[in-house]
Amino acid sequence: MSRIELVDLAHSYLTKPSPTSHWALKTMNMTWEQGGAYALLGPSGCGKTTLLNAISGLVIPSHGKILFDGTDVAKISTEQRNIAQVFQFPVVYDTMTVAENLAFPLINRGVRGDLIAQRVSEVAKMLDLGRDLARKARGLTADMKQKISLGRGLVRSDVGAILFDEPLTVIDPHLKWHLRAQLKRVHDESDVTMIYVTHDQTEALTFADKVVVMLDGAVVQIGTPQQLFEKPAHTFVGYFIGSPGMNVLPADLAGDHVMVRGHRIDLAHGYAPRPMNDKIEIGVRPEFLRLASRHEGFPVTVARVEDVGRARIMRCAIDGVAVSALISEDVAIPSDGVRLVADPAHVHVYADSHVVD
Ligand code: ATP
Repeated sequence: MSRIELVDLAHSYLTKPSPTSHWALKTMNMTWEQGGAYALLGPSGCGKTTLLNAISGLVIPSHGKILFDGTDVAKISTEQRNIAQVFQFPVVYDTMTVAENLAFPLINRGVRGDLIAQRVSEVAKMLDLGRDLARKARGLTADMKQKISLGRGLVRSDVGAILFDEPLTVIDPHLKWHLRAQLKRVHDESDVTMIYVTHDQTEALTFADKVVVMLDGAVVQIGTPQQLFEKPAHTFVGYFIGSPGMNVLPADLAGDHVMVRGHRIDLAHGYAPRPMNDKIEIGVRPEFLRLASRHEGFPVTVARVEDVGRARIMRCAIDGVAVSALISEDVAIPSDGVRLVADPAHVHVYADSHVVD
């Protein structure tokens, strides 16, 4: 088991990067607690794989330390780090049987034969591979091969951490739910640190206790799914998480309220004035906007209404600025003169994309 600390970690793929070069990872400091189930979430190219590979040893970082239980491992090999990694695409030996593939990491470590047999059978059961143990990997479907890869990642019970890099990409959609639930169960039973890279918010939010959101080489928020939903630390988190994402509106700050296109939106409390050149925005999730009476809120023009089963998404605009509101099924949407009001407790103020406390 490992507690993993990143100390001033930064990485550029260039051999002699300068401060103005492209950095795949910008300087970061953070801790992955022992036994945590983490998701590393962010758009393509934000640095997720680079970070995972720096932790596993496939990438030697340009700067900084990676501490496993206090010991710097930044320059030692993947094998010596005692971690398992599962990649996006299957890594299996075609000429071996399913059982031999699963046993391989244990044979490598000199584990006793009876213990290997027991562990292989447990993992095979977990991944529904029990009936296929004697089959050669060659000729199996991509789904099956990826299940073997997952099994090889899970088979050792002595690893400090298991790192998953988009492991369910090639898995059939209906199997994904099942496997994700299995991984979560394995985590809960084993207490091993797991880091799961994905760009899919549903995958991240259902797997992880804590989600680490990355953007452009930097970690912009670490939080529980609820924290990311209720108080996004960065406008990107608000926009990226949630469906539809948080509304982000340009605003002028005026103490206990803001003005958006000349319309007043109340805040939960007063805010100190910000420096002149800060870009001020507010963020409010569609869930926290409701239809207002004639005397409250702000006017909007409705572009369209989408039925999403549990509710309707009203796509509208406040003087040309797009806003979405989630309106429950039982509330009638007027044909004109529509106004919305925001719950002040859920209106967040952002300066240059970062939340203002
Ligand atoms: P994806 O979800 O598409 O895999 P990612 O979030 O995992 O993306 P990385 O693959 O870590 O992002 O890439 C981060 C940045 O580093 C990108 O700008 C990418 O082009 C660059 N990069 C990644 N690998 C290399 C490499 N081997 N050599 C040079 N640049 C690289």
